[in-house]
Amino acid sequence: MKKYFEKLYKEGKDNFYDLVKEKLSKKEKMFIVTANPETFTYGENDKEFNKLLVDKETTLIPDGIGIVKAANILKYNIKERITGIDLANELMDICNINKYKVALIGAKEEVINALRKVIKDKYPGIDLVATENGYVEDKDSFFDKIKNKDIDVCLVALGIPNQEKLIYKHLKKFKKGVFVGVGGSFDVMSGTKKRAPKIFQKLNLEWLYRIVCEPKRIGRFWNNNVKFIFKVKKISKKR
Ligand code: UDP
Repeated sequence: MKKYFEKLYKEGKDNFYDLVKEKLSKKEKMFIVTANPETFTYGENDKEFNKLLVDKETTLIPDGIGIVKAANILKYNIKERITGIDLANELMDICNINKYKVALIGAKEEVINALRKVIKDKYPGIDLVATENGYVEDKDSFFDKIKNKDIDVCLVALGIPNQEKLIYKHLKKFKKGVFVGVGGSFDVMSGTKKRAPKIFQKLNLEWLYRIVCEPKRIGRFWNNNVKFIFKVKKISKKR
């Protein structure tokens, strides 16, 4: 677990966005994993997932408040959260300004259709090269389709761990591009689902809002977040 915390990006949102912009302008490659307690727990229990987390090409950012709190308990100085949804929106702005090429895969067919329309209206500068919903059986062919298209940004919204595993499986085929697994972000970006109100975001209670809206999340929350904090406290006592 320690190795994941050490690898976490610690310099805050603005510096991270600058780093992403630099990678894009230099036409370099970047694989970003937005980390939640679930991410680290997955890594500990799944060899393939661990491998992609520790790979030197992977950048881990502190998405969830659970990760920031745990990092503080373990005395790692993490400035702030960098959420997947904020990063996705920031990337859309950057791509709009620079007329970058974007590929999107994930979410339901009606969600990705709505998102295509949002991008056309709100980000006319974006060159939307390819989109696919996240429920097609063969998701590999999407990457084969885009591999020679000079993609700048590829967002994959399938949920953990499938989005990260899929990106990692195809990453070697690309010479450049920023690749991110963005969970439920397409649902929000397309206007299909509402993000937690600002006050919840400010108080770091987005997780509570999501549970209230979707009570079936409670089991997932308990298994990944509550157990995780207990485990972190145990580790901190041993240090
Ligand atoms: N999803 C998908 N294909 C699947 C399963 C899920 O495209 O086979 C999408 C789902 O529609 C949603 C996203 O993956 O848009 C996962 O969202 P969730 O809110 O569970 O992710 P989180 O943000 O909590 O990681």
